[in-house]
Amino acid sequence: MRIPPITRRSFLRISTASFLLAGCSIAASTAPAVRQKGAGASIDVLVIGAGIAGLAAARDLMAAGKSVRILEARATVGGRIRTSRIWGKPVELGAQWIETATGNPLVALAKSAGVTTAADPENGNERYIDTQTPEQLTGAALNKLYTLADGIVSAAIDSAGGTDKSLRAAINQVPAYKSLNAAQKRQIESMFAQLIDDDDAVEAELLSLNNYDEGIDAYRGGNLFVKSGYEGIPIFLAKSIPIEYNISVTKIATDSTGVTVTAGAKTWRAGAVVVTVPLGILKANAITFTPALPVAYTNAIKQLAMGVLNKCILKYDTAFWGTTTDTFTIAGADPHEFYQFIPLNKAVGLPALVAFNAGSRARALEAKTDAQLQAQMATLVNKAFAVNKTPTGIIATRWGRDPYALGSYSYIPVGGSIQARRTLATPINARLVFAGEAYTESDASTVHGAYNSGKAAAKALLR
Ligand SMILES: Cc1cc2nc3c(=O)[nH]c(=O)nc-3n(C[C@H](O)[C@H](O)[C@H](O)COP(=O)(O)OP(=O)(O)OC[C@H]3O[C@@H](n4cnc5c(N)ncnc54)[C@H](O)[C@@H]3O)c2cc1C
Repeated sequence: MRIPPITRRSFLRISTASFLLAGCSIAASTAPAVRQKGAGASIDVLVIGAGIAGLAAARDLMAAGKSVRILEARATVGGRIRTSRIWGKPVELGAQWIETATGNPLVALAKSAGVTTAADPENGNERYIDTQTPEQLTGAALNKLYTLADGIVSAAIDSAGGTDKSLRAAINQVPAYKSLNAAQKRQIESMFAQLIDDDDAVEAELLSLNNYDEGIDAYRGGNLFVKSGYEGIPIFLAKSIPIEYNISVTKIATDSTGVTVTAGAKTWRAGAVVVTVPLGILKANAITFTPALPVAYTNAIKQLAMGVLNKCILKYDTAFWGTTTDTFTIAGADPHEFYQFIPLNKAVGLPALVAFNAGSRARALEAKTDAQLQAQMATLVNKAFAVNKTPTGIIATRWGRDPYALGSYSYIPVGGSIQARRTLATPINARLVFAGEAYTESDASTVHGAYNSGKAAAKALLR
């Protein structure tokens, strides 16, 4: 059982329950309204991307009587919410948890969509296995380690200020960290991998210290583990929304009477556009904006970065690890590689292990073939459990190479600023607004943050 202050993504974050939507910053008196359709316009609002942000925006705009169309590059809705059923049971390739469930609108949405959840395995029994020593820790001894890791990161955050530097640089100066011997440092690095790399999809080396504790958590409480297929939520939201699939938008031009959106030889005309493509797409300049985006926005795009969190999921004939442990932390030679293993046998009924990797490790691993990844992960698992098992299958995600994501979720790098998220959450003009996990100060990098950002974008346009 993990100690209460430390839960996935709620680690060390300040909750501000009263301030709900990043889009609240849009609610200034200058917030634009959807103007009348320009000459030739047949759609009030085009939404680019059918992820949770685009679907939320489209739903609210349609509920307000606007004609809406979503243009989506993929053949499906959901974006970074994607469920595989190739093994007969739902396996999440993207989001898995409904985070900070108390007050989170996704809880009610999941219910309406018939999506079921289970208790969070991260709050269950955990076992730490060091394959090199091979030391094992559970219960109070493991909690002690988490408390130490928490204390070190808290002390690092307390030293924020002045010229920005990396979270790692600050951690390295914390006396409690400096005093650890090599073996203790290995253990602490395993904790950091889960608490930092996993939350931010990047290692502490690249994270801005001055911005690490910034941002707003709209909700509280523990997380819920989605067990019957997260994709059920976007599929539910998409009902009755006109969506054109396999449309990869490359140009967005705004003028005094409307917006022209281009994909290949096709164009669409509308009164306004909500752009929900991931930050990675904007950073890659995959969409040309005419006129060019204001400098404040191009700077904001540069001040944020896209991290990578990937999963390697191994399926076995039987769940030989049993049912008494809910999550395993397995430290290999590099404790930041394949740090956390979540069994799917209890929650989903599948004899499979989900292993997470993040940041530079994830980018390096996703260059390997499935066969190479399977061999590498299976070797680690065999060593950890002192068995000689051969997996019967692997699913490996490669979000960094996904052409319509180019990463898993955003973070604030050294020298970046939370202000970048605020800027991107503000409509550029009456016709052009961003929405999505990166373009919000509230719960960035989460499903509910993206959902609320889509709603805020719709609200701003309607105003
Ligand atoms: C591995 C992983 C694990 C995660 N775990 C969790 C978790 O447990 N809990 C949680 O809350 N969050 C989690 N997240 C984050 C969460 O999934 C995202 O923050 C959220 O789904 C983003 O939604 P979005 O609408 O902003 O973007 P997306 O879902 O990416 O939607 C954007 C859409 O735009 C489309 N698009 C891209 N380019 C174009 C183009 N040129 N033209 C047209 N369409 C385009 C994309 O195909 C996509 O459908 C995880 C993410 C990953 C990758």
